[in-house]
Amino acid sequence: MKKFYLSTALPYVNYAPHLGFALEIIQADVIARLHRILGEDVFFLTGTDENSLKNVRAAAEEGVSVKELVARNAEKFYELKKILNLSFDDFIRTTEERHKRGSQKLWLACKKDIYKKKYRGLYCVGCEEFYKKDELENGLCPEHKTKPELVEEENYFFRLIKYQEQLKSLIKKDEIRIVPDTRKNEVLSFINSGLQDICISRSAERAGGWGIDVPGDPGQKIWVWFDALSNYINALGYSKNGKKFQEFWQKNKKKLHTIGKGIIRFHAIYWPAMLLSAKIPPPNAIFVHGYLTSGGRKMSKSLGNIIDPFELVKKYGSASSPQAGTDAVRYFLLREIPPTEDGDFTYEKFEQRYNSDLAKGLGNLAARVITLAKIFNFQFSIFNKFSNSNFQKVVKKTWGDYRKALDDFKFNEGLIAIWELISFCDRYIEKERPWEQLKLKTKKEKLKTIIGNLLFALTNIAEMLKPFLPETSEKILLQIKSRKSEPLFPRL
Ligand SMILES: [Zn+2]
Repeated sequence: MKKFYLSTALPYVNYAPHLGFALEIIQADVIARLHRILGEDVFFLTGTDENSLKNVRAAAEEGVSVKELVARNAEKFYELKKILNLSFDDFIRTTEERHKRGSQKLWLACKKDIYKKKYRGLYCVGCEEFYKKDELENGLCPEHKTKPELVEEENYFFRLIKYQEQLKSLIKKDEIRIVPDTRKNEVLSFINSGLQDICISRSAERAGGWGIDVPGDPGQKIWVWFDALSNYINALGYSKNGKKFQEFWQKNKKKLHTIGKGIIRFHAIYWPAMLLSAKIPPPNAIFVHGYLTSGGRKMSKSLGNIIDPFELVKKYGSASSPQAGTDAVRYFLLREIPPTEDGDFTYEKFEQRYNSDLAKGLGNLAARVITLAKIFNFQFSIFNKFSNSNFQKVVKKTWGDYRKALDDFKFNEGLIAIWELISFCDRYIEKERPWEQLKLKTKKEKLKTIIGNLLFALTNIAEMLKPFLPETSEKILLQIKSRKSEPLFPRL
């Protein structure tokens, strides 16, 4: 069985999850489900990044222990599984033993490229990264708009420079494929500007005693990125050189990371370089999404515009259709947000999509077709024969557009293709007016063909929706069988 490896980035756990991370993990979930449908053996990984200074500081502010803070928030991230209907296979916390062991093993495997030196630099705790002066904007971190801290220490460094040409070639030749091209070019131009060795440890004192010890030097903690990135292989059992590590990483040429645009340098440069140093194959592809804003602005506590996925799902789910909240959130993020660019959430836009596309578009069509089939007492065992050539052509073309869109990670275009088929069916119903024909009950054969065609299309629509809206898809298929029409998305 073909293997497929997929990961999300590990979010920091200094806050509870917001809708921005939901976007990433839902995109990844669609990819995972699609590959399972294609018959591949999928390993889909997510988890939490718990060794950062941010967590130490957030815990101090709250007056709780770091351990307590990370455990509480990690649990919330795990709970996304249920409310967003996620299908990840493993969830790794970077405070787990399996991660610590793997992270130290990787350090030792990179040892020939690690050296110690005195260093002075500007560090942004938000990014957990050093900045060069010319990378700052008016002296502020371009990502956080905060002033970085001056750090002067003796730390360990990794010889990144050594891998400059090899990385460039891997990325240029798409052996590490970066999607979209704009991000690929961004990485290449960063490499072309000249790489520098990176600082990969900090004093245990500066780390607040939190983090993973540098092997053989307990006075130093491993830099949180060097530690966290190794999660991608640690979850597979790298520390024990386990079977999953062999199958899903070492021998597998389909390894994909999904990440946000702010952390591309870590994933496209540092991480592959670490792996090359350790003589482990690098990932094969990196898919980079944009940011989700709320009301046109970055989600932030001070602006009070953070969208809580738990509240959102609860608000739009109902007793009669509990899947409506989950699938409406999945649908909105996949359809409204351009997959590789920034997109915006507002309740207004959300409700508009819900009403027009889900309650009306998909919900209406399903209800009409299933009700027609019931009234007409259509025999389902024979409906496949009732697909005329024009219908088959349209459905076939939709599958083509759909698959092409998904191969390119264009989730929105995949959904647009499905909704075009929905509109095609709506126009067909308007033209053929099966309701009137039902009243007349004259041309039975013709009616049979109309309903057969519509059932054929609806079944295909439900199949195409499987990776996107898994529960809704299942519900439609069940209703087709039982001929009991129940609203999929009650009107707001
Ligand atoms: Zn920053």
